[in-house]
Amino acid sequence: AKEVGRNTYEFYKEDMQAISDEYLKMERALFLAMENEDFELYYQPQNDASGRLIGAEALIRWNEPTQGFISPAKFIPIAEEIGLIVELGEWVLHQALRDVSQWRAEGIWDDSLQVSVNVSPMQFQHAGFMQMLKSAIETFNVPPHCLDLEITENMLLSDSESSLDLMYQVRSLGVSLSIDDFGTGYSSLKYLKSLPISRLKIDQSFVRDLLSDHSDEVIVLTIIAMAKALNIDVLAEGVETQAHQNRLTDMNCTLYQGYYFGKPSPAHLFSKAWLSVVNV
Ligand code: C2E
Ligand code: CA
Ligand code: CA
Ligand code: CA
Repeated sequence: AKEVGRNTYEFYKEDMQAISDEYLKMERALFLAMENEDFELYYQPQNDASGRLIGAEALIRWNEPTQGFISPAKFIPIAEEIGLIVELGEWVLHQALRDVSQWRAEGIWDDSLQVSVNVSPMQFQHAGFMQMLKSAIETFNVPPHCLDLEITENMLLSDSESSLDLMYQVRSLGVSLSIDDFGTGYSSLKYLKSLPISRLKIDQSFVRDLLSDHSDEVIVLTIIAMAKALNIDVLAEGVETQAHQNRLTDMNCTLYQGYYFGKPSPAHLFSKAWLSVVNV
């Protein structure tokens, strides 16, 4: 038994060593990528029930020179841990506003559209956030109502007082707020009532099995009914099929995002597919 125990420990140690080596490698690569601006924004359409474009979510992509494509689900948490998320998040906001200002200059962006930018809790609560947001909007000269910030409900748990205050400051600029991944966190319904948000994004985990899982169906129905009562828009994420959309439309969902409407794509392809038709 002792022998087994030691071997298990040795394996464990090797595993941990491998994990922390990989982690360190990723940390260094991230700092380097930030210096070289090795990132790109992809855009995914957001649509109404008739398929009309209402906006786009900006999603970061990292093409690492030696490892290739690395998912944001993997490197964003590391960027948060090493404090790089503040700088990275600023890069994302700037790039999204730069792309929109370019599309406006080309006459293909309608100002009723919105670009949605993900903001991590640590970035949102960083002392310089409001100032950064203000000057970014001024620099790129984009109407603030064309910008939507996606925050997660878990952000509201920590120091909710100052988060709420920040949210009101964002709204007073004319920028709107969405709650991302709604249903996966811990926000209380009572609290939701007092938040200055314009949109709930139903997490894709509830949408995925909507047609087969009764409890997911009930959850989605409840979120939609609640949002309606609070006068908040609802967007369903991860809509992959027409059957999904039909069911969601039956449930009074009004906004959609997912592969069924369009996958995230580089700025020039997104604009070709979705924006160039606006003014022709
Ligand atoms: P998220 O904000 O929930 O973004 C939606 C994710 O779902 C995206 O993954 C998108 O590509 C994927 N998706 C969209 N439609 C479908 C669909 O129909 N089916 C399925 N299975 N997936 C779909 P992505 O781009 O890999 O991003 C993963 C996560 O990384 C994001 O989840 C977000 O939390 C984070 N992230 C991405 N870009 C940024 C960023 O610029 N800043 C921050 N802070 N986080 C980001
Ligand atoms: Ca998001
Ligand atoms: Ca989401
Ligand atoms: Ca997510």
